[in-house]
Amino acid sequence: MTAAQAPPSVAASSVEDFRANLDAVHKRIAQACARSGRDPKDVRLLPVSKTVPEARIRMAYAAGCRFLGENRVQEALEKSEAMADLTDLKWSVIGHLQSNKAKYVARFAQEFQALDSLKLAGALDRRLQIEGRSLDVFVQVNSSGEDSKFGLPPEGVLDFVRQLPAFGALRVRGLMTLALFSRDEARVRPCFQRMRDLRKMLRQDAPESLSFDELSMGMSGDFELAIEEGATVVRVGQAIFGPRKTPDSHYWPGTG
Ligand SMILES: *Cc1c(COP(=O)(O)O)cnc(C)c1O
Repeated sequence: MTAAQAPPSVAASSVEDFRANLDAVHKRIAQACARSGRDPKDVRLLPVSKTVPEARIRMAYAAGCRFLGENRVQEALEKSEAMADLTDLKWSVIGHLQSNKAKYVARFAQEFQALDSLKLAGALDRRLQIEGRSLDVFVQVNSSGEDSKFGLPPEGVLDFVRQLPAFGALRVRGLMTLALFSRDEARVRPCFQRMRDLRKMLRQDAPESLSFDELSMGMSGDFELAIEEGATVVRVGQAIFGPRKTPDSHYWPGTG
C-alpha cells in the first residue's frame, strides 16, 4: 500500500479517536507483517507527537501510548517536563541534533534515533556520564541520497560505527532512516532495501559490543513498505494524531 491508498486519518480529539486511529495503524502493521511472514511483535509502533499540544498528548496517553517520538529536542524537553506526572511516559528524540544541545537529550530521553557524527556521540557521552545515565541510540543513515535528509551515507556507516565502542554511555541498537518522500513505491522501496543490506553487513563486520537488531524506518505514508523490508520500529505521526499543519519542508528543507 502506498500513501495514496492509505485510509485518511481523523484529527484525533478524544481518547476514543486515539483508540480508533491506533487500532487502525496496528491492523495495517499486522497486515504488512502477514504479507511478509513476520511477527507483529517484532515491530514497535513509535507514535510521533511533534506539534501536538499537551492536552491531546494526554489523550493519546489515556489511549495507551507510553513512548513518544519528537523531532525537536526543545519541544520534547518542554513536553516531558510538563507531563512529568506521567511517570511511565518515555521519550524518543528522532530528529537532527546539534552537539551543543546534547545536554538536553542526556537529561530526559530514553532513546535518540539521529546519531550522525562523532562530535555528537562524544557530546552525548560526556553529558550522559555527568547525568549518570545511558541512552539507546540509532545511527541515522541517508538512504535516499537527498541533500535535504540528514544521516551518514551508507558507505560511511561501517567506519563510523567502529568508533562507537569508545562511548560507554551510548547503547547502539540499530539504524534509522527516512526514505525518499514519494508515492512511487518503486523509488521508496530501494531505500528500505539498502538499510536491510546495511544491517546484514554490520551484523558481520561491526564491533561485537554494538547491536544492529533495530531498523527504524517507515512513517505514516510508507510504513507498510518499510515493514515488508524489515523495519522493527515504525515512526508514525499523522496516521495517529491527524494531519499536521506544518509542512514537511519545515523539517526537511527542499521537500514537501
Ligand atoms: C514527523 C516524523 C515522522 C512521522 O511522520 P508522519 O508523516 O507524521 O507519520 C517520522 N520520523 C521523523 C524523523 C519525523 O520527524
